[in-house]
Amino acid sequence: MKTLSKSRFVSGIQCDKKIWFDFYRKDLKLPTDEQTQAVFDLGHRIGILAQNMFPNGKDATPEDYSNLKPSIENTQKWIYEKVETIYEATFSAKNAFCMLDILHRKDEEVWAIEVKNSTSVKDYHLTDASLQYFVMKNAGFPPDRFFMMHINNQYVKQGELTSEIFALEDITEEVIANQDWVAENLERLLKMLEINEEPEVKIGGHCSDPFGCDYAHHCWKHIPENSVFELYRGGNKGWNLYEQNILKIDEIPDDFSLTHFQNLQRNGLQNNESYIDEIAIKNIISPWEFPLYFFDFETIFPAIPVLDGTRPYQQVPFQYSLHILDEYGNLSHKEFLANPEDFSNGENPLKHLVQQLKKDFGSKGNIVTYNQSFEILRLKELAQRFPEDSDFLYSLVERVVDLLPVFQGGYCYFPAMKNSASIKAVLPAIAPDFTYENLEVQDGGAASSLFHQSIENGNFTDENLRENLLKYCERDTLAMVVIYQFLMENI
Ligand code: SF4
Repeated sequence: MKTLSKSRFVSGIQCDKKIWFDFYRKDLKLPTDEQTQAVFDLGHRIGILAQNMFPNGKDATPEDYSNLKPSIENTQKWIYEKVETIYEATFSAKNAFCMLDILHRKDEEVWAIEVKNSTSVKDYHLTDASLQYFVMKNAGFPPDRFFMMHINNQYVKQGELTSEIFALEDITEEVIANQDWVAENLERLLKMLEINEEPEVKIGGHCSDPFGCDYAHHCWKHIPENSVFELYRGGNKGWNLYEQNILKIDEIPDDFSLTHFQNLQRNGLQNNESYIDEIAIKNIISPWEFPLYFFDFETIFPAIPVLDGTRPYQQVPFQYSLHILDEYGNLSHKEFLANPEDFSNGENPLKHLVQQLKKDFGSKGNIVTYNQSFEILRLKELAQRFPEDSDFLYSLVERVVDLLPVFQGGYCYFPAMKNSASIKAVLPAIAPDFTYENLEVQDGGAASSLFHQSIENGNFTDENLRENLLKYCERDTLAMVVIYQFLMENI
């Protein structure tokens, strides 16, 4: 009979076929991509940080994951010796095994603590904690209390990180209530895995809930490009159509209820039709006052805050680009990029940024953004942080306008946009030659992660990085100018 780890059990709860592939068709699994690896690395770092909050524990981490016996024996020995804290406490029972992040003795109680990098307890966390409790109980070591230790998003960093960056949530009742459910599902999955035959499972909402499945490229290979699942904000419509055997957007019958944007998608695919609602666009952009300030922030949002006065996952601006267009068509450019070392040397990079904003913005003219809520929120956060500059920062907020509604509202649509109104989807449709492809940094995610790495490094991680970040951000606001000018020429 097979033996299930905690993650395989969670896999099996998501989908029978997924766990079956995990055992019998590993060849189908794609190599871990950068984004997934970054999530694993973050989990590892948070785990180490959590351990530091329970210092001087004994570490039962297996040296060889194919032989857990020494870890299981060490864990048992240390429990009998009443060792206060054990990291990666390892247990096995009933054809399942688990490694618990932290086993801690608190007064007369034994606490099981599982660490997560989220800011709350999710349903799938309860699934894996319930399996852990089941294994521990059947191995003869039921903990008195089971805790989820997750990031406390109300924590504000001041100097050294403290244990308050974590919140401990007691989930003992929930995991105990789940024990019969765990036993039934464990037995069911183990039995199913005895049969050397791929289970029949159709694709469904479970393929992305709670996680995107590693085998989607295999199970979804019959789904064509421009499928009904790519409808803009499609919700259940994709599944509804799929059940009627309608796979492609351009096959959707006329009497099927679609939103305006979805209709544009279908017309775009059927007839290669674009759409411009001149009056609506004019109503949005004509009232804007010159000079126009095309403005964009780049931010980091680290789980573990790197700047005093900020919270976990808080969006912290480190860069902006600003193109200024006057009423005669003259264009100029301003920019700011923080020094990574200023995040740890007592300087305040945000103060430098605000000082630069004060130099770069004149007192009149609208500030053009692409998705205004993001820039407005950052400006308001800066105003809260620097009350002495709040009048100036709130005066900027009042001048913000937004290009996004032109596209999100379906007033301007090109088939090449497909189901997206993002700047990266709109730009190639309007100006195919204006591309990000010749840039070293090509998207905001990369800019954010490279700058975050530079902060940890104490300086830019590579000698060209400063230049490359500046080029990327400049391209973003220049793209907004190109889009604006296109709209003005077409209304
Ligand atoms: S893609 Fe969907 S059906 Fe296929 S294994 Fe994954 S969850 Fe199961």
